[in-house]
Amino acid sequence: MSKPRLAHIVLGGCEGCYVSLLDAHEGLVELLDVVEIVHSPLTAGTSMKECDVLLVEGAVTTERDERVLMDARAKADTLVAVGSCAVLGGIGGLRNLYPTREVLADVYGEGGGPSKNVPDLTARVHAVSDFVKVDIAVPGCAPQTETLLSAIGAAIDGRAWDMPRRNMCDECKREKRAMLEHSVDFVSDAVYGLMELETIDPDLCFLEQGVICMGPMTREGCGARCTTAGMPCRGCQGPSRVDFEQGGKTIDALAAVLPPGAIMFLDDLIGTGYRYSMPISIFPSAYDHEGGDSDE
Ligand code: SF4
Ligand code: SF4
Ligand code: SF4
Repeated sequence: MSKPRLAHIVLGGCEGCYVSLLDAHEGLVELLDVVEIVHSPLTAGTSMKECDVLLVEGAVTTERDERVLMDARAKADTLVAVGSCAVLGGIGGLRNLYPTREVLADVYGEGGGPSKNVPDLTARVHAVSDFVKVDIAVPGCAPQTETLLSAIGAAIDGRAWDMPRRNMCDECKREKRAMLEHSVDFVSDAVYGLMELETIDPDLCFLEQGVICMGPMTREGCGARCTTAGMPCRGCQGPSRVDFEQGGKTIDALAAVLPPGAIMFLDDLIGTGYRYSMPISIFPSAYDHEGGDSDE
């Protein structure tokens, strides 16, 4: 019996998700036992073919990305969106805050532009689901290798697969004291970068110590790997529910832990709250309707 065919395409991203897959090491050999890889960065020089499972990494950022995605989707039975760029639009999606002409002028100077060999940018950065049906979504920048292999295994077997949907604080092992008590006392009187603090309690919740942590606004499922390693969560798995604005919730949560008005003094709230999920938020469509979407 022939093996299921697996293809992997890379759109706009950093290829870190691909590195996460390579981190499977001997797990890749086991994967090769059960699938035939018909097209992938691993198989240089191949072209997209009919396949049973298609891995899509990266966001749609150029006209070429859009063509490649549409062609690949038409040839695939099951599509797995791999990583925050593909699922949420990712960190590059922050360019949606600006018209494309401004982005190009910033990079190439006024009147300048990329060479003719560089594909035209789309007016907005898009998550893959803006164009095609996604069967399995694996957020994370990059997704953990085991999570990725688990999702690929489910896609190969034709099983449903999903990540947990509660927020990161649920799986974070740091102690929560004030946050779980009903009180008029504020949890913090200011927010800091981690490096601005002289000392930090390694076991206590970051937010309670005045360090911005995106845990309350972020979907669980990574094992709270950053907070376990001593860094606050940056929100890379996106919002904890599909109808949930991650940046809006950031403002909401910070307003609840800080004294009245303190939130007004925070820098880059939008970039913090929507670091990975701007393209799936309400922002791009609202902006387009205002006529800000111009590449002319
Ligand atoms: S999700 Fe993160 S690791 Fe994956 S391609 Fe995008 S930026 Fe790179
Ligand atoms: S805010 Fe951050 S540090 Fe605090 S419990 Fe949630 S994930 Fe953990
Ligand atoms: S803790 Fe937050 S930033 Fe770190 S991997 Fe998990 S979701 Fe991403």
